[in-house]
Amino acid sequence: NRFLEANEAAQRLFGMSMRELRGMQEKDLSVSAEAVRRPKAERRSEERLSLPHYRRKDGSVFPADTSTAFLMLQGRPSQLWMVRDATERLRNKSVRRHQEDQDVFMGEVVHELRAPVAIIQGFAETMRRGVRRASDRSEFLKSIEGQAVRMAHLVDRLLDLSAARSKRATNPAPVFAAKLLWEIVSAFVPVARRRGISIKIDISADLAVVADPGDLPHIFGNLLDNAIKFSPKGGEIWVRGRTEGVEGIISVKDSGGGIAPEHLSRVFERFFRCARTRRTKGTGLGLAIVQGIVTTNKGRVWAENDPAGGAVFKVAL
Ligand code: ADP
Repeated sequence: NRFLEANEAAQRLFGMSMRELRGMQEKDLSVSAEAVRRPKAERRSEERLSLPHYRRKDGSVFPADTSTAFLMLQGRPSQLWMVRDATERLRNKSVRRHQEDQDVFMGEVVHELRAPVAIIQGFAETMRRGVRRASDRSEFLKSIEGQAVRMAHLVDRLLDLSAARSKRATNPAPVFAAKLLWEIVSAFVPVARRRGISIKIDISADLAVVADPGDLPHIFGNLLDNAIKFSPKGGEIWVRGRTEGVEGIISVKDSGGGIAPEHLSRVFERFFRCARTRRTKGTGLGLAIVQGIVTTNKGRVWAENDPAGGAVFKVAL
């Protein structure tokens, strides 16, 4: 992968002009981690060793936070490579080793927003410099719009998440799960049908769980959303409910590719998305929201793979 374009910030970061950068590769700039000496204050920082390091034109080396995104450039599939000097971030971290959860969260949010912002900025900058071909122009505008939509979606999910976290009280009450789930599922049937997916329900009429009835649509809405998203056309989704001991267990099973075993618990982390499914639309927040809501209802949620294929998400209340 050779560099086609570099924005002004990248030219400053590496101390190189666009002409120097054009045609280079990532490996031309990178320095192996073993060759890097760490400043004393960060002796215990494992993180720094795990970051890639790059050399500037003047020979100085810096650790970097990087991420990549795919996009179409001049009609060709290309990669956007984002590099950010991590020196300052690591220094702050070693000073305040125990960051508050809030700070970590903020960092994650910023990380997620950085990609769309960088793409929008990059394309706007390119267009300001002048784009001759009309087809390129419309392609750039489409990318800008697409990224803005992605940001809007992310902001919506962040609001859901903060609503789920700050909800003052849950009002758990015994609810008949079958009736409520029928209503929730019904709302998803048209979406599923458009993709040829059928949703089947098997819940005994007397299954009762203790939960805030207003929370169930959020929980199962997110799970059904994913089940539809990750099922192939013509697939089948099963919503099942049964009593086990004192718990009611409600499961949503899809007919998609399932989840790699090492990711079964990680899918509930904020912003975590399996590499295999990166290409689907999403924010990586849905399941974090689900887990937050289930926990406030004193329940549990986990993921499994069905031996016959597909992922199964189970909620115990
Ligand atoms: P999003 O779907 O917006 O990416 P989620 O928090 O809902 O975020 O899910 C996180 C990740 O977990 C998804 O990106 C996907 O990799 C994986 N995942 C969630 N549900 C399923 C499913 N039903 N089948 C396969 N993978 C799933």
